[in-house]
Amino acid sequence: MKTKKFLIFIIVIILFFSIVTNNNLYAQDFLICSKCGQKNEIVNKFCFVCGDSLDDEYKAWLTKRNKTRYKEEKFISGRVDPPRLFTIPTARVLGTKDISLMGGGAFGVAVHQSFLGTIGMGLGNIAEVEFSTVGLINNISQGSPTVSTSAFKIQLIPEDLFGLSFFPTLAVSIRSSADWKDVRSDWRALNSNKAFYDYNEITQRVECAVSSIGYNTRFTIMYGVVTFPLGPVKIHSGLMLTDIRVKDMAVDYIWQEDNDAPEERQKNLIGGFAGFEIEYNPQTKLMVEIKTDSKHEYNMETKEIEVSHTYVAIGGVRFFFTKWLSIDTGVLYQTNYKGIADAQIKLGLNLFIPTGSISDYVKTSVKQKLNKE
Ligand SMILES: [Zn+2]
Repeated sequence: MKTKKFLIFIIVIILFFSIVTNNNLYAQDFLICSKCGQKNEIVNKFCFVCGDSLDDEYKAWLTKRNKTRYKEEKFISGRVDPPRLFTIPTARVLGTKDISLMGGGAFGVAVHQSFLGTIGMGLGNIAEVEFSTVGLINNISQGSPTVSTSAFKIQLIPEDLFGLSFFPTLAVSIRSSADWKDVRSDWRALNSNKAFYDYNEITQRVECAVSSIGYNTRFTIMYGVVTFPLGPVKIHSGLMLTDIRVKDMAVDYIWQEDNDAPEERQKNLIGGFAGFEIEYNPQTKLMVEIKTDSKHEYNMETKEIEVSHTYVAIGGVRFFFTKWLSIDTGVLYQTNYKGIADAQIKLGLNLFIPTGSISDYVKTSVKQKLNKE
């Protein structure tokens, strides 16, 4: 845990300094009189202290502002944006042959989640492949065990179709766990769970007190997502079908023979997600998302894993250090949490290796050189 706290500390420091040092990117919104040094409102034609004309100061301010705007626009257009908000996908895909690396997790006091990572690659500006680890929400282990998955996403309606920037983008994707995941209960999680505690201690069913639970699971998620561009705001919304399999259910009792049920069980869940992003300034984007996530809960009475939905909400910002390095940070809350003390800090670092874009860049600059000669 110490390393996680240290990591958060370092990221907060970097974030703070980046914001402080980047403030000079924005034009000041007052005029300083060159004669007496008095600060004047932009609308003032004459200095209100010495009465000197502020024409030259105004022209200088205008030039600086236009330069700043040009810089900002260039920054935004050249920015490599991950094709997702915090966790929900958008209908964008990575640029062809561009590689994205993402790492992070959610950190809180009560619930610890493991480090999650993603590696993705764009294919032909229309599709992408991705390998990632995702957390599994359940009530028998502390935090979320991680599951390796692979995914493929393809755009059915690409961006800027017919050159119309307001046209919505549509993509479909399939994500599947790489293998069966073995989930084991841990004693601390079982004891801190009220249902288990009541079952084992209060009802005094000592002869059938549960000591451990384990099962294997895998899943496949299919979704369709639409992105609506509305100027500085982008809205993303999608429908999701999740097929979850559970097998090799094993329950160990303290005083009784173990109960094993090897047969496979299947459940389909239909869920969804929605979110929006707003350009706050060239380096910062506000992001809010809400989604359904599947939750595995061991039921003491039926002795089965019950699969159902939980709702997850995340709100925060994406901050760009450079065009290809950004950090996502916000607050995460799930409906299966007991109160705000369980809320977690969501942190993710996005790094891009523009292998595709670099070769395009080289090609165009070589062409430009040849044209000049
Ligand atoms: Zn003056």
